[in-house]
Amino acid sequence: MIGKMRLPMSKVSKKLHRLKSNKIFRDLCSETDFTKANFVQPLFVNEALRNKEEIIGLKDNFVMSLEDTLRQINEDISNGVNNFLLFISSKNKSLDSFNLSFHEKVISSIKDEFKDNINLWTDVCLCSLTDHGHCCLFDKDNSINIDKTLDEISKVALTYAEAGADIIAPSDMMDGRTLKIRKVLDALNFSIPIISYSTKFSSNFYGPFRNAADSSPLFGDRKQYQLDYRNKSEAIRASIRCAEEGADMLMVKPAMTSIDLIKDIKEKTNLMVGAYQVSGEYAGICLSEDKGLLNMEEALEETWHVMRRAEAQFIITYGARLAKKIGF
Ligand SMILES: [Zn+2]
Repeated sequence: MIGKMRLPMSKVSKKLHRLKSNKIFRDLCSETDFTKANFVQPLFVNEALRNKEEIIGLKDNFVMSLEDTLRQINEDISNGVNNFLLFISSKNKSLDSFNLSFHEKVISSIKDEFKDNINLWTDVCLCSLTDHGHCCLFDKDNSINIDKTLDEISKVALTYAEAGADIIAPSDMMDGRTLKIRKVLDALNFSIPIISYSTKFSSNFYGPFRNAADSSPLFGDRKQYQLDYRNKSEAIRASIRCAEEGADMLMVKPAMTSIDLIKDIKEKTNLMVGAYQVSGEYAGICLSEDKGLLNMEEALEETWHVMRRAEAQFIITYGARLAKKIGF
């Protein structure tokens, strides 16, 4: 007899609509909510620049001198941003001796100016330092020299920590880098979190970034150390590796093409996991608005809610400085 109690499917489906009839209901039923505090704004500083240059495809994002960067942070703080992810390019690139004096100056100047009003995340990698643009060092036969790479990456991380960075964010995807950095920092009593780019795919969506960070590889690609987007278990293992090596938080990248991984990584590592809405994803939204195909702010809001629905703890996005205006 129970079967007779069932409603036809057409009537059952209407149940979903009852709690959507007005905004107060919809807000009441929202399963995801987050604030400006969850956003991280990337910044690009280039020693060679006097005047800031807009990054192709990334509306309201620039490659800047240090002076312009300080002004930009001030403006962003007034728009509610207090997390910044810093990418630094210096004039001199050399395989033999990395010169980090400009990097030190940028980090210490920003922290001197803004102190604890901001958290300064620093991307740690070798690709903006090497003359070949790869994230590692090679032997003569073009195989990755992992020991030398880890030595240099951990030196960069230590330099950033000494200059005042609040967060070390290694993005190179080399085995063992989180552990090596943690050991080097611990040895000098730096209790700085490592937020590791733990699941980073070799992706088509990094194009605008590479122009901005001046880090395109001169030969080959990064497929030999970044993840294959066809592989889910490998992607999860990469994050577990970083968790076991001592990462404090993890990150997937690109956000939308990794959306299925966030919850699994979180459950398997018991660590918070963030998402990086990368340059190609953001540019796709900007350029679509330019063509009259969508409303940028509404599209950003949608993507951010989806990342949060997928349980991203933080979102790195080129639109962080728009979050307050959009209503977060
Ligand atoms: Zn790199």
